[in-house]
Amino acid sequence: MSIISDSLKRIKPSPTIAVTQKARELRAAGKDVIGLGAGEPDFDTPDNIKDAAIQAIRDGETKYTVVDGTPALKKAIVRKFKRENNLDYSEDQITVGTGGKQVLYNAFMATLNKGDEVIIPAPYWVSYPDMVLLAGGKPKIVKCDEKDGFKLTAKKLQKAISKKTKWLILNSPSNPTGVGYSKDEIEDLAKVLIKNKKIHILSDDIYEHIKYDNFNFFTIAQISKLKDRTLTMNGVSKSYAMTGWRIGYAAGPKDIIKAIGKIQSQSTSNPSSISQAAAVEALNGIQDYIQERSDAFKERRDFVVKSLNSIEGISCLTPNGAFYVFPSCKGLLNKKTKLKTDTDFVQKLLEKSNVAVVQGSAFGLNGYFRISYATSMQNLQKAMDRIKSFCESLL
Ligand code: PLP
Repeated sequence: MSIISDSLKRIKPSPTIAVTQKARELRAAGKDVIGLGAGEPDFDTPDNIKDAAIQAIRDGETKYTVVDGTPALKKAIVRKFKRENNLDYSEDQITVGTGGKQVLYNAFMATLNKGDEVIIPAPYWVSYPDMVLLAGGKPKIVKCDEKDGFKLTAKKLQKAISKKTKWLILNSPSNPTGVGYSKDEIEDLAKVLIKNKKIHILSDDIYEHIKYDNFNFFTIAQISKLKDRTLTMNGVSKSYAMTGWRIGYAAGPKDIIKAIGKIQSQSTSNPSSISQAAAVEALNGIQDYIQERSDAFKERRDFVVKSLNSIEGISCLTPNGAFYVFPSCKGLLNKKTKLKTDTDFVQKLLEKSNVAVVQGSAFGLNGYFRISYATSMQNLQKAMDRIKSFCESLL
């Protein structure tokens, strides 16, 4: 009999972390690999945030804190929701965890019974289905078409709903596509959700601040009839280049917030006291660099999309947020190239040209691959040249 639990056997390790690891190994073995797999900004954490953390250490903020977040951080989060999303929450509607990832994990653990369904539009962030499975729930994957910008439509949502549906996950702007939902698109989905009163919505807003072309960010809790059924998750990892600090948070119904805290109290307890102090400064301090960094990402996005679309067999939508593109490689999957799947494509690309990207099937949609352009322009230029030469060599 295996020592490993049945629930763990249902899941797989994160494929994006696996690609990053593989690239690291090849680099250590002396290969000149360009990694376009990582989901984190290449910018450094701003100095005012670092200074706040150092000050917190000097001030002795080095003890356990309230399990689900310090009062100072909860206040800063309440203010953030009011300032940026015009949403009113009280502090007991806020929870803070060790990254958005822990908040989501706790939320599923706290709410899912065996067989409960969670609607997950594909392509999706790799962790959603596995977290749901681990919690005993059932992912209901809904494939979204490129022609719809890889977004869920009201019609598809309606079709996916069953008596067992407990949650719908929305992620805008999205990992892996970079595409964000407009207010109109969210309102269309909301019409279906307002009719189906038992469904809760988990809105993953982690890429809220990384957006382009005057995209107006809108989050579903802003629809007043749905606010009481929505858990809005966000964090400082991407907006403030703080992935290693591990602070994420959520706002929502008090019963869910309390249940999330209960799980955390029996697992990790509070997130790092020092990181929480840093997050207070991130949310309350100057915000200017958010726009500056978005502008830098935009320049890279424009370059990457243009380069990809100049390659025969590859086509790429122009996304309006995050730092990912999700090009199609379907034009290169055929008898002539001897490549059958997107996994074949990314493996060959790594083998022959030393560029690490992630296959679309890891995100629930075959025939595509994900590029993270959160790396230097120099790296991107080199990577695009290599991808172009690789694709040309196939034809
Ligand atoms: N949600 C999405 C869509 C993500 O891409 C990530 C990180 O890659 C997270 C949540 C979790 O972020 P963190 O745990 O760093 O806050």
